[in-house]
Parts: sequence; structure tokens; C-alpha cells
Amino acid sequence: MLIISPIPAFNDNYIWMFHSPDSREVFVVDPGDAGPVEQALNYHGLNLVGILITHHHFDHIGGVAELAHTRNIPVYGPDNPNIKGITHPLRDNDTVELSTCQFKILATPGHTLDHIAYFTDSGDDENPALFCGDTLFVGGCGRLFEGTAEQMYSSLSRLASLPGHTRIYCAHEYTQANLEFARAVEPNNRKLQEQVMQVAELRSENRPTVPSTLRKELDTNPFLRSNQPEVIQAASDRDPSSSASPIDVLRVIRAWKDNF
Ligand SMILES: [Zn+2]
Repeated sequence: MLIISPIPAFNDNYIWMFHSPDSREVFVVDPGDAGPVEQALNYHGLNLVGILITHHHFDHIGGVAELAHTRNIPVYGPDNPNIKGITHPLRDNDTVELSTCQFKILATPGHTLDHIAYFTDSGDDENPALFCGDTLFVGGCGRLFEGTAEQMYSSLSRLASLPGHTRIYCAHEYTQANLEFARAVEPNNRKLQEQVMQVAELRSENRPTVPSTLRKELDTNPFLRSNQPEVIQAASDRDPSSSASPIDVLRVIRAWKDNF
């Protein structure tokens, strides 16, 4: 099993830190800023032994040089030469052994072309975990900066096929805004309404809404529901010229969200 905890950074980023319960050696995912990571390591008396990167955006890699500089630790990440400091470039379906767990690499292009996610269900962990960066958010998905709706659809479909109890560790606290949009798409989704209330309570106490579970996302996240009648209808109301295919529905609601 892994102990996984968030290190808040910038306005709404989460840098995920994980280690096995019997070890003080930790990994961090997407350290956009070194400062909060060093503070967390000091505070908890932990030793950073590796870094994982999901994609090239600055708020995910900005702290890599500083954190890796004095430590000589491995930096795992996409096979993208534009990301400085990656020592272990990873490709789709690669596996890496980190802490006591084996992680599988899933290429998830869409938000960026180099985006990868890290999935583990190994060890004695009851709950598989997914570090999905800016591909899948709680209640939403990443903006299409580089990829197409087709690519995002196929990336999300791949994540959607993971076990339902997979915990979803995304890189931003965007949940409340995402759910506001989700409600505009599916005003009659009862599970979504319950989720809105749970999230409001968590946020009123300034607690993270991440991780979610895949099952919860399948029930409430419109970007995983582009084959559902109410979502198809909402997309067709928004853009009557689009088809009912899940990719077109995803394209329409993604563009809608961009201007929501
Ligand atoms: Zn990004």
C-alpha cells in the first residue's frame, strides 16, 4: 500500500507525494514549485528519492531542477526532449517499480501531446491509484491545448476502463467550477447533485476534493459520459450541427466549458 498526500502549490495545484508506510523515502508527482515540496519534506522528516512528471507545462515541472539538483535522483516523465532533467523517459505501456509498487504508464494525449498517466494496482493495496495530471479532473477534463477531441476521447476512454475503485489523483483543485458546469450539462443527474453537496462541504472546510474514485467520475463527470442521453441532448442543444457520436459530444461540451 501507499500513503499518498497532497502538497498544495500555486493557487490550485496539488503536488502528490507518496511512500510506503514503513519507509521515509518519498516520490513526488509534478512538482511545479520546489519550495512547498522542501517544506513538506522537512516538516515530515522525509527523504525525496524520485520525481514523476505527467506533462511539460511549467506548473508541473518548474521545481524539478531545484529538487533534483543536489540529490541526484531519478526523474521519470514523458519521452519529450523539451522537458529538461528527465532521466527516465517513459512510453505507453512501460512499467516502473517505485516505492513498493509497480506503475503502468498510460499515454493520455489531449491536454498536451506528451501527457502520460501513472497507474498502480500492485502490492497489497486495496485501492488502485492513478496520477493523471491534467487529463482527468474531478468533474472535468483538461483543456485541449495541443491534442484533438479524438485523442482526448480515447485517453479518457482508456482511463474509464480502469477498475471502478481506482482513486483519481489529479493535479488541480478545479472541482467546484467543474461541477457547476457539469450541472449545466446534466441538470437531472441525481448523483451529480449529491456530489455537488459533498464537495461544497469539503471546500467550506478548505479540504481537498481529490482524490475522487473512477466510479464516482463515471457517474458524474460529463466528459466520461458523452454517450449518455442527457449529455448528448445538451451537446445537440448547444450545437445543433454536431452529431451524437461520443467524440463530437465531447468536442462540443469541451468547447462549451472553455467559455463557461
Ligand atoms: Zn497542464
